[in-house]
Amino acid sequence: MIPGVFLPIAKNETRCDLLESAARISKKTRDIALSPDRHDLAELEPAELEALLQASGSQRFHARQIYRWIYRYGITDFDRMTDLSRTLRARLQTEFLISTPRVISDELSVDGTRKLALELSDGRRIESVFIPDTPSMTFCISTQVGCAMSCGFCLTGKMGLVRNLTAGEIAGQVRVLAAATDLLQHPFNIVLMGMGEPLHNYDQTMKALRILHGEHGLAISPRRVTLSTVGIVPGLERLASEPLMPNLAVSLHATTDAQRTALVPPNTRYPLAAILEACRRFPLKKRSRITFEYVMLDEVNDSPEDARRLVKLLSGIKAKVNLIPLNPAPGIPYNRPSDERVDRFAQILADRYITVSVRKSRGRDIRAACGQLIVERGPKKTAAQQMALLLR
Ligand code: SAH
Repeated sequence: MIPGVFLPIAKNETRCDLLESAARISKKTRDIALSPDRHDLAELEPAELEALLQASGSQRFHARQIYRWIYRYGITDFDRMTDLSRTLRARLQTEFLISTPRVISDELSVDGTRKLALELSDGRRIESVFIPDTPSMTFCISTQVGCAMSCGFCLTGKMGLVRNLTAGEIAGQVRVLAAATDLLQHPFNIVLMGMGEPLHNYDQTMKALRILHGEHGLAISPRRVTLSTVGIVPGLERLASEPLMPNLAVSLHATTDAQRTALVPPNTRYPLAAILEACRRFPLKKRSRITFEYVMLDEVNDSPEDARRLVKLLSGIKAKVNLIPLNPAPGIPYNRPSDERVDRFAQILADRYITVSVRKSRGRDIRAACGQLIVERGPKKTAAQQMALLLR
């Protein structure tokens, strides 16, 4: 869980607001990962890097050194990897590259939140956010350029899906954020709550977590990572047996299928009962719980009846609820409810012994809050095309 996120409701709490699988990665994505002449080491998890070095005639242990330079010191220029011999450095330089998303803008909010716009090797852009002191340091990263889920209140959803990110691009955001905030060698949390749906880019997302977990690199424990999903049931089932299992946050947002389908279109395919059943089966470590995110939309899903239905739905699940009052944006046809409505909803949950927190908006002045990440508009897709992408 993200320390500090789940403060008692009475304190009207703090925490980020940020931000916002195809099991097969698209051909386009694969082409970027595998540059024709030089292999991109940013795409490799530790065992792959060892194997590649060995196959190219070097010792496996150099992988540890290289990982250390990239992930602990933020160095991607082989020439500066001074514990490697000159000959090896020269050879690495000709055979390999280490790509890193390029920072094209870095905006600072009045509340200390920082939003980085990053350019990828094909010129596509994504956004990643740093939220300080929640009380931990938190990086909110993206898993896709755009998103296919089309949630009715989310600006990223309006973009449509442009492409999946590669594992190196997902992990690369952490490298860039950690370097920009001087946190490469300090603890921080990661939330997969930026642009995109992590379970719709399952393989690359999990590979990124393995890269970030590398013991000679950033060595990030999965307990410091939270994966937020609309609830793609086969993805949840795969996740349940992952050796590196992040904390789980499920974007619920509604208490009836009719209401949820209107807000979160993938609900037609994976309705509430199926998602909650997968959550009931989800293996949780001692004392950990699944977070249910609930965007509050004025007079839409924020009534006392909704709150009571939510209590019923969550019965039998080790759950906590994170209420997210809507971050309004142009083109989003909903309003943010009053504090009174949010408090009343939260109180109903708290009275039924459900741990509840209200997510405080962070970085709204720089459009870094949940659902406000957008950098370009993809070609307009019809609802049917969006659904086809989702079902791939
Ligand atoms: N696709 C994933 C992760 C990205 S969105 C998911 O849906 O969980 C991260 C969180 O921000 C989700 O809970 C999402 O519903 C929420 N969100 C999206 N748009 C928002 C908005 N305009 N205001 C508040 N929260 C929003």
